[in-house]
Amino acid sequence: MTRVGDRLARDGGEPVRSRPFPSRSLYGEEAERLVLTALRSQNLFGMGGRMHDALEGELATFYGADHAIACSSGTAAVHVALAALDLEPGSEVITAPITDAGTVAPILFQQCVPVFSDVDRHYCMDPDDIERRITDRTAAILVVHLFGAGCDMRRIAELARSRGLALIEDCSQSHAVKLDDRWLGRWGHIAAFSMQQSKFMTTGDGGFVLTDNDAYARRMRAFRDKGWFRGEPGSRHYAILGLNYRLTELQAAVGLSQLPGLRQLVLRRQQLGGQLAELIQRVDGVSPQVPTPGSEHGYWQFPFEIDTGRWRPQTFAEALRAEGVPTGVGYTGDPIYICMRALADRRTFGSSGLPLTLENARPPAYGPGLCPRTEALLGRLLTLSINEGFDETDIEDMALAVEKVARLLPSRTPDRDQEEPEAAGEHRV
Ligand SMILES: *Cc1c(COP(=O)(O)O)cnc(C)c1O
Repeated sequence: MTRVGDRLARDGGEPVRSRPFPSRSLYGEEAERLVLTALRSQNLFGMGGRMHDALEGELATFYGADHAIACSSGTAAVHVALAALDLEPGSEVITAPITDAGTVAPILFQQCVPVFSDVDRHYCMDPDDIERRITDRTAAILVVHLFGAGCDMRRIAELARSRGLALIEDCSQSHAVKLDDRWLGRWGHIAAFSMQQSKFMTTGDGGFVLTDNDAYARRMRAFRDKGWFRGEPGSRHYAILGLNYRLTELQAAVGLSQLPGLRQLVLRRQQLGGQLAELIQRVDGVSPQVPTPGSEHGYWQFPFEIDTGRWRPQTFAEALRAEGVPTGVGYTGDPIYICMRALADRRTFGSSGLPLTLENARPPAYGPGLCPRTEALLGRLLTLSINEGFDETDIEDMALAVEKVARLLPSRTPDRDQEEPEAAGEHRV
């Protein structure tokens, strides 16, 4: 690696990077054409709509699933998936401690109890820890394929099978990513995807679920449509409790335009992220995420750990930002069971604390100590953002900045530490 300057930009040196990194370019001519077609059809309602039904069909084909069901967001997709299981209130759902609130909120809305499994060295839910947290109230495992790489689905699927548990995959950060030649999202009973703006395939907001189970599919179609089994014979009964989580023709049109390029996009990100990982793993004191063996990595985010014996994450991130490299600290900062206040403070429905206060519920104590490896990891974790529009020199600049900061940033001293504000990952509870 060539050496750039011997003074950090934060101390007045020349920054490694002065022009901005490329932003994503997502909506091209095909999206324009399809959106215009949708508008001119004078129908933007998704149910039975041409774009909507085509999108569901093409998603099912792409992933090789019997059913793809579109819905209005990733959160809605997780909710639709959980609703398909029709769980008893107070049932436990084991999920990831590092994720978006959209994974966890639907568990609470279904009157179930989130249980968090600690992470393994690949930042994914640890199969051994999942097993330890199974009780006689456990009904489902809801895995999250974090940052664009997969969990150890061979073991987790086997565990779910042997213990008779439902298995849902949250693939919001890992569209079109394979583990052992099988798509993530094709290992469990149901998979949920977000199509929010930042995700690989996006319609601004939106989502979908996949399943091969006909009964789940029927229930999920109805749940996203206020409980109505639309199109089935008989009068209009709202046969189950449901919500309106429908996707519109406009969003479906945009989604359709993206599917043909999706796999190429993921492969490009994997190549760029792989290049960055290779460059920065040579830097002393810095280590990029190592994906689960057998898993591809689409690098929705590029996470790496720093040696916190030497540097505070906040200080390291600020030095990188000064070099012109936008850097995040600790993803959500705290584990989701701490930063999601509804859970930590039991502020769910009025003052009831439901479902955590149900007579048969045994919620864990949502606070520091619940998942020690996760808490330690988040205290060392920084994230970079790459995308498919980068070229090799963009990646080299990022790596150069990391190398420069690691080489020149002074080691922390006990005295300074006491003066500095808390870094993310240290609990603000
Ligand atoms: C983005 C995301 C969600 C929520 O998706 P929305 O479309 O924003 O509702 C859920 N889970 C994970 C892992 C996500 O990354």
